[in-house]
Order: sequence, then C-alpha cells, then structure tokens
Amino acid sequence: MDTTTTTLSSSPLKRARKLRDEEEATKTSSVARIIDGRRMAKDIRAELKAEIETMARKPGLAVVLVGNRTDSATYVRMKKKAAAEVEIFSVDVTLPDSVTQEELLKAVKKLNEDPRVDGILVQLPLPKHIDEATVLKSIRVDKDVDGFSALNIGNLCLRGGDEPQALPCTPAGCMEMLRRTGVQTRGKRAVVIGRSNIVGMPVSQMLQQLDATVTVCHSKTLDMESIVRNADIVVAAVGRAEMVRGNWIKPGAVVIDVGINRKDDATRKRGYRLVGDVCFEEAKHVASAITPVPGGVGPMTIAMLIRNTVRLAKARTKREAA
Ligand code: NDP
Repeated sequence: MDTTTTTLSSSPLKRARKLRDEEEATKTSSVARIIDGRRMAKDIRAELKAEIETMARKPGLAVVLVGNRTDSATYVRMKKKAAAEVEIFSVDVTLPDSVTQEELLKAVKKLNEDPRVDGILVQLPLPKHIDEATVLKSIRVDKDVDGFSALNIGNLCLRGGDEPQALPCTPAGCMEMLRRTGVQTRGKRAVVIGRSNIVGMPVSQMLQQLDATVTVCHSKTLDMESIVRNADIVVAAVGRAEMVRGNWIKPGAVVIDVGINRKDDATRKRGYRLVGDVCFEEAKHVASAITPVPGGVGPMTIAMLIRNTVRLAKARTKREAA
C-alpha cells in the first residue's frame, strides 16, 4: 500500500481515515492465492522422471478404456501423455461399448499376469451392463494403481493398519496441493462436500489423518451453507456446477475444488466451459487460497497416477528381490 501521497498538511485524523479506507479497499479487492495445479503437477512429473531414470526397470501402466465417451477418452489421452512424458511403459486396451463383462474380466486377467505391467487402470464409468465393482475387484491388489481396492481403502481408514500400496489419485492430489501450498491442517476445521468412494470418502479420511477435524456433507445434509461457513478448509467434490457460493466461504479459508462440470457458454466455440463445484469468481475474493477449474485438481490427479505407478513398480522390485 502506498501512503506517500498523504500530504503533510492533512490532519492526523484525516490521515488515519485515509489509511483505514485504503486498508479496507485492499481487503475487499484482495484475491486469494491461486493454487496452480498445472505447475505443481509439472514439478511432480519432473521429480518422478528423475526417480524413474534411477530405476533398473521402467514402471508399466495399463489403461483400459471401454466405449466411446468423449470425456473418458480425453482423460485416458491425458493420462497416457503424462506416462509417456516420464517414460513409463504403457499398455493400451481399448474395448467397444458392446464388450461383455466376461471379455473385460478376461482383459484385466491378462494384464494381471503381464510382467511388464505394474499398475492397471480401468477408466470409469463403465457401460451400464457391466458391474463396475466386479471389474475393479478383479484387478490384483498389487496392481491397483487407483487405490480403490477394499484392502487399500481399508488400510487407509485403519489406524495402525498397513500402509496402502496406492492411494486414490484425486484425494492424494488434493492432499499434495495442501502440503505444497504449506496449508496447516492440524486442528483445523475441514468440510468435505461429497462422500463418494473415489473422492469424498478418501479425502475425508486423509484430512483426518492430517489431524483436521472433518465434517462430511452429502445430498441429505441440512443447512450445508452454515457448516461450510465454519470451515478453514473446504473440499468440494459434488458434481454440481458452482453450487458453493462465495458467501458460504469463511474469510481466509482454503478451497480445493474437485468438481469438473460443463456450463453453457455461447462465447466458446464448443458452446460450454468447464467450471468447478465452487463459484470461483466469488470465492476467490473471500478465500486465502483456491484451486481453479480447469488447472487445479485435474492435473494433480494424473501426477498422482504416475506416482502410484512408480510406487507399485518399486514395491514389486523389492518383493522380487526378497
Ligand atoms: P459422485 O456423483 O460419485 O458423488 C457426488 C457426491 O456429492 C455424493 O456423495 C453426493 O451425495 C453429493 N451430492 C450430490 N448432490 C449434492 C448436493 N446438492 N448437496 C450436497 N451433496 C451433494 O461424484 P464424484 O465424487 O465421482 O465426483 C465429484 C465431482 O468431482 C464431479 O464433478 C467429478 O467430475 C469431479 N471429479 C474430478 C476429478 C479430478 O481429477 N479433478 C476426479 C474425479 C471426479 P450422496 O452420497 O448423498 O449421493
């Protein structure tokens, strides 16, 4: 703030008022620190690339894509690109929408037995006629690169359990963002909106492990606004465009927005733009730090997938050497 314009002739009272007005103006126009997931993920990929270069064997990642959903195809393309960049060996399995559950299970079995593959990712959602839980259960635990297996989730939740072999990528990405931003979690009040197996539930467990006091909100939660308003850390994983408004956010809170939603936008060539579950334009004036959408949690999810692949490969090498 520049106070040098204050004239010597003005009274101390006037000077104090001017100072106060300037401070207020700074406060109201202040913008949260934007947590740049793209840059953070790039740093992590570079760290992992250096780690991979020291390994005797390249880690291998298998990505299974079923059907022709454009969003799934985009995610898979981004994951494969990140894997290629760090020189991970990758296996692609692309199956038609009409694939039977049996055929898909057979493909997973083949990957389970493939010694070049350390991690298997089946891109969700799967077509309606396929039982996702059965397919996920068929992935060998030591190749469960998404960390979704009951054993990995169970160990994540147990106090004093074994260390999970892999942590779910999006939740791990959220925690890494907090860590790299230097956000204190111990003793803080955290609110997680959403309780899905892949995001909300593991995020709430991880925050608890970091000594935050965690409240989980979901579709049946009453008066969610007032719960969110008390939170020092808000993680939104709902799938409802801009549901969390700026006036729900406690001043100075840290906001991690996991949501990826399409919002109609006639100014864009494709007719829409991507927005999070939090109204970024409002929340950025209240929060102390916030993740953007796109460019926030998304790239971190992919970086964590690569990290999990490297960890599974290292664990296997260690097991084989024992
Ligand atoms: P799910 O649909 O599986 O879960 C949504 C959760 O939000 C549920 O727990 C649901 O409650 C809750 N919910 C729904 N509506 C409301 C509401 N009105 N008020 C409060 N809670 C509500 O979604 P996911 O967890 O898979 O994904 C959440 C979002 O995150 C999506 O936008 C998705 O695209 C995005 N995502 C982003 C990723 C990334 O890498 N950035 C990765 C994965 C997901 P209930 O349990 O009661 O039904």
